[in-house]
Amino acid sequence: MQTQISIDRDRCIGAGQCALTAPKVFTQDDDGFSELLPGYEDALDGAMVKEAVRACPVQAISLG
Ligand code: SF4
Repeated sequence: MQTQISIDRDRCIGAGQCALTAPKVFTQDDDGFSELLPGYEDALDGAMVKEAVRACPVQAISLG
């Protein structure tokens, strides 16, 4: 089953922990807010994604 990921950009404070933790999935846009990278789907199974969800200080990332 395909894992879904979403970023609540209203909640994101641009801390960058997600991009540091799972650099194949997240990047930061020009304003510092989290964005999903092209092709991120291929990296969603990695343990680092769950780590990034945990690392976000404002719980802006959800997996479903
Ligand atoms: S770790 Fe959370 S607050 Fe920081 S950039 Fe990523 S989504 Fe935004």
